Amino acid sequence: MIPATAGEILTENRLRAFVRCSEFYHLGGNLEESSLQEVVRSVYENTLASIIRRPDLDPLHVMNKAAYRLIKATGMQDTHMQSQVTEFHRHTLLIANEIFTTLPLAHYTPVFGPFTYITRVSKTPIELRISGLLRSKKNKALHVVSFSPYREQHSVNNDPITQLKLTTLKHAVPPHNNRKADCRMHSFGTYNTGTLFYRFTDTSHRNPEILKQITTMVRIMEQGFRYPITPCPHNCKFKEICQIGEKK
Ligand code: SF4
Repeated sequence: MIPATAGEILTENRLRAFVRCSEFYHLGGNLEESSLQEVVRSVYENTLASIIRRPDLDPLHVMNKAAYRLIKATGMQDTHMQSQVTEFHRHTLLIANEIFTTLPLAHYTPVFGPFTYITRVSKTPIELRISGLLRSKKNKALHVVSFSPYREQHSVNNDPITQLKLTTLKHAVPPHNNRKADCRMHSFGTYNTGTLFYRFTDTSHRNPEILKQITTMVRIMEQGFRYPITPCPHNCKFKEICQIGEKK
């Protein structure tokens, strides 16, 4: 049988869309990042990549240029007043800088990133995104930086994407200082209020039960299984066409 996902490489947000609601997924739904988080992530990734290439660069200067370029690419200038664009630019810089304050360059050397890689669950390839790999100057351990749409520690730990990253990257991070090989992941994102959130997860949070559930879920997805949630608590753009979902 050809799986319903045949030919598709699932992105992180498409897999999360299925977790939210199978009907939402099959209608083409995607759990998108907020525009602020998307720009902050891109600014952080661009800055990290520039510093890896040229460690002598001033991170603030690089961030400023990246933020300007990325905001321009969104076309925000065409739809907002200049003062709003300036404020968004200032706010983006503040948040991106907060990430560098949380994982300071004085303590962590950027070594690689951003990058994506593919892992396979059942018959379906899933693309995982890593914003950067940092090496601790203190004990040479590798640290993974990632972004998440989930804000609570519990949700980040139980996110299928977190679980897949912890599992697949544990082999990429070699043993150090007599510790077992492990993966230390720093997840960032933005609250609706526009402030930064930060969660730490490591290999000790790997949950074999969740990993089994992911495999089951992807198999269900491959069979084309779909059903709307009733009653549906989500504010969803498909409410009007979803057969059984609650109407607004
Ligand atoms: S309205 Fe609710 S049940 Fe329907 S697709 Fe959207 S999330 Fe799923």
